[in-house]
Amino acid sequence: MDDRTFRNAMGKFATGVTVITSKVGDEVHGMTANAFMSVSLHPKLITVSIDNRANMLDKIKESNQFAVNILTEDQKDMSMHFAGQTKDKKQIDFGFLHEIPILKESLVSVVCDVDTFYEVGDHTLFIGKVIDIAQTEGQPLTFYCGKYGINEVVS
Ligand code: FAD
Repeated sequence: MDDRTFRNAMGKFATGVTVITSKVGDEVHGMTANAFMSVSLHPKLITVSIDNRANMLDKIKESNQFAVNILTEDQKDMSMHFAGQTKDKKQIDFGFLHEIPILKESLVSVVCDVDTFYEVGDHTLFIGKVIDIAQTEGQPLTFYCGKYGINEVVS
């Protein structure tokens, strides 16, 4: 099977969109990710899958903490920014929960300690032990077939 067939098929799984945030020293780093899921209730664990080439990989390994910020439909610009899809330099005013950076006005921010991580193929799965959650009201940003929104793709 070629890579395009696999990517297109996996893209048919409609998801939300998150921005992962982490901090090393005083420097905050953010990265857009949709490979996120809840793993366990007791204990409360979640996972994110990070490309081994991403700058975020070493940030999380070094800080041992990260946040998953589930975006609202009004935060598409944040998704594009933290995916490196816009040229403009943005000054982001991050919030903090338990001293872990979070993206303000996200639908949900989940702050975690790294429980463990597994290198799996060309990605690394970080299992996060949930410390706390912040929530707001709103509608989620969705992603389907490589586009934002789930109603825009006609097959
Ligand atoms: P960089 O390319 O270094 O940074 C990303 C962008 O964020 C840059 O523009 C940078 O300037 C900006 N930025 C970072 N920190 C700050 C800060 N403190 N202040 C202001 N700007 C900052 N990749 C995965 O590995 N896993 C996924 O699940 C995944 N899902 C994705 C889902 C969607 C919808 C999209 C669009 C992309 C997804 N990607 C995913 C790709 C990933 O977001 C990009 O490849 C990303 O650029 C790689 O992150 P990086 O850590 O190398 O960040």
